[in-house]
Amino acid sequence: MNLKEEERRARLLKSRAERLPDIKKQFEEAQNRNFNSNFKAGGKDENLVKKSKKATKTAKKASTKTPKKVDDAEQRKVKLSVSVRKGDMVHHQRMLSQDVNAQATQHIIGIPVNKSKYNGYNGEQVTNAKLKTMRPNPDAVRVIPIGGDGEFGIGKNMTIVEYKSEIIVIDMGVLFAGEDYPGVNYMIPDIKYLEDNMSKVKAILFTHAHLDHIGACRHLLPKFNSLTPIYGTDFTLGMIKKQMSELDEVPDLNYITVDPFKHEKIQVSEHFSVEFIHTLHSIPGNTAIVVRTPNGLIYFSGDWRHEEKPMGIQTDYERIDEIVKNEGVDLMFNESTNIDSPGHHPHSEYDVGENLGKVMDHYVNGRVIISCFSSQISRIELILKEAAARGRKVAFSGFSMINNVEVALRAKSIKVPKDTVVKMEDIIKLPDEKVCIVCTGSQGELNAVLNRMVTGAHKYIKIKSTDTIVFSSNPIPGNEPHVVSTVDGLLREGAQVIQNGKTHLTNIGPLHLSGHAYFEDHVDFVTRLHPTNYIPYHGEFFMLEHNAEMAENVIGLSRDRILVTDDGDIIELLPDKTIRKAGRIPVGNKLYDDADRPVHEAVIKDRIHISREGIFVIVLTLNKKTGHLMKTPDIVSRAFIYLDNSEELIGKIRHYLRQKTDKSISTDPEMKVLKEEIKEDITHILFDATGHTPIVIPVINKV
Ligand SMILES: [Zn+2]
Ligand SMILES: [Zn+2]
Repeated sequence: MNLKEEERRARLLKSRAERLPDIKKQFEEAQNRNFNSNFKAGGKDENLVKKSKKATKTAKKASTKTPKKVDDAEQRKVKLSVSVRKGDMVHHQRMLSQDVNAQATQHIIGIPVNKSKYNGYNGEQVTNAKLKTMRPNPDAVRVIPIGGDGEFGIGKNMTIVEYKSEIIVIDMGVLFAGEDYPGVNYMIPDIKYLEDNMSKVKAILFTHAHLDHIGACRHLLPKFNSLTPIYGTDFTLGMIKKQMSELDEVPDLNYITVDPFKHEKIQVSEHFSVEFIHTLHSIPGNTAIVVRTPNGLIYFSGDWRHEEKPMGIQTDYERIDEIVKNEGVDLMFNESTNIDSPGHHPHSEYDVGENLGKVMDHYVNGRVIISCFSSQISRIELILKEAAARGRKVAFSGFSMINNVEVALRAKSIKVPKDTVVKMEDIIKLPDEKVCIVCTGSQGELNAVLNRMVTGAHKYIKIKSTDTIVFSSNPIPGNEPHVVSTVDGLLREGAQVIQNGKTHLTNIGPLHLSGHAYFEDHVDFVTRLHPTNYIPYHGEFFMLEHNAEMAENVIGLSRDRILVTDDGDIIELLPDKTIRKAGRIPVGNKLYDDADRPVHEAVIKDRIHISREGIFVIVLTLNKKTGHLMKTPDIVSRAFIYLDNSEELIGKIRHYLRQKTDKSISTDPEMKVLKEEIKEDITHILFDATGHTPIVIPVINKV
């Protein structure tokens, strides 16, 4: 080390020693939010960096007053026998921190990047400064997506409509988290804005009963005044009540069932009147919602598809046409899920039913096991019909499957042929050719029925080579590897597997029908509604953008009538029937595990960090009086290195710890200070040896 370097180092140490209390405080703050400091550019932690700079200045000022500590730190310093520079380690930690943050904060939204030409700011990124200058128009009707727009994945749908002192809420969905969030099952919208404005909420409306629209009810509905009316169709409210009945304390809520065929204009508050419109989707009781406001009529499409020959009652086009003709649609919110699917939706549910019948005919001697989404009540009705026609009995398996069929029966949303449904325990007594089982697990979920049948963990069924398994579904993006693994498991057992979309292999198809309209269906429908203003919702950013392009390029709406929005954007519908963005409200996520318990964001970051780098614990036992090391330090390594194979490294660490404790005796440092120094040195030694920086936890006991 040359003189200059030595000098610099001493200066650094000096300032660090002075700064320690501040750093610790910041670190603890950061621990509460993050596992480590968070260097995201422009993120909230830029403040942290700024703060720490400030702290350095303050520390420098103070440094002349307390020189002793610096000397102490210098005295305790152990020369590490490492070849990797400390800067390299810090760089590694920084990159790791960025990676972990990027993975754990995909759904955390401050001011999202949105330079779309439809962003409402002429394609310019809106800044905090600009947001601050925006003044709300007191006469505007405000629509604010709380969740469901431009997220990573589809879900968490929730929108509010506000006018002066009145708010109505539409939908409360979940979003399933995927593997990027270890140990997290789903996330729900953060409703802080509503919690701050609770007294304004006049009504809660639900478009339909898919979990991306009602899945957050168990957490959110109890937060509202129990007298707030909750509107939905029979089946939708049935599913919500079922969900709420699973709570330890079932709240007594004000449910009001709506019959969309009555075309009732429900005056939910002084300024808002709402109307539910029957539309087709892949679940019973599906609706769009029309909200009549002082500034015009808003059409919320909810989820929908178009079928020429639907199984149930056709979409209420008559009523829609009437509204368009008599009142006009001033603002249309339209879902975006399948905007990238070209053409029209090519099939009908009847095709699927017919093809399921073909499977039963073709594989006539064995059991037919059909896996589909548990909310596909029409599909289930068709399976029952086809099975009954062939003398097969049907049993349902899977908690949600049985639940949903029960709710559908109660809401009269499903017709069940006589003597067809039997219990699981009874169906196994029948000969194989009389058996049809409808179950969950079409997404390859590890714990769902299908996988349990493969592994032999299912109580009644073990897959055998005469079984035919039908995937009456498509894998949701992200689930493909799980579906493949389930299919492999089934094939290894010798069973026949028939998947939707693989007609060339089986000559049977289609076996599934998407619940969402295709591109040309959207073109037709938006043309039909002829909206003055248009906002795509319910979709990832690219879907919203493509949907907006469709509105401009195909429908011919002018660009200033279209907005691509993010969760939290405030959209104003003004009295002159123009729309604009006017600021943001804070939005975010609450994460939950599979026991419906909350998981803190910091915990996720720790989990991701540990999964990449591991954890390393050192336990030192010191003599309370002398400060001497009483015994060889205990070392625990988890998810990092296998200790039995790392004697040399462990020896090096023990040697360091002995030196460090010996050198610390005379200065008697504060425990926190000593721990921090040990942590830093050990991290350096580990990084030097392995190229990784596990979470290092020093524990010091004084006895
Ligand atoms: Zn849906
Ligand atoms: Zn949906």
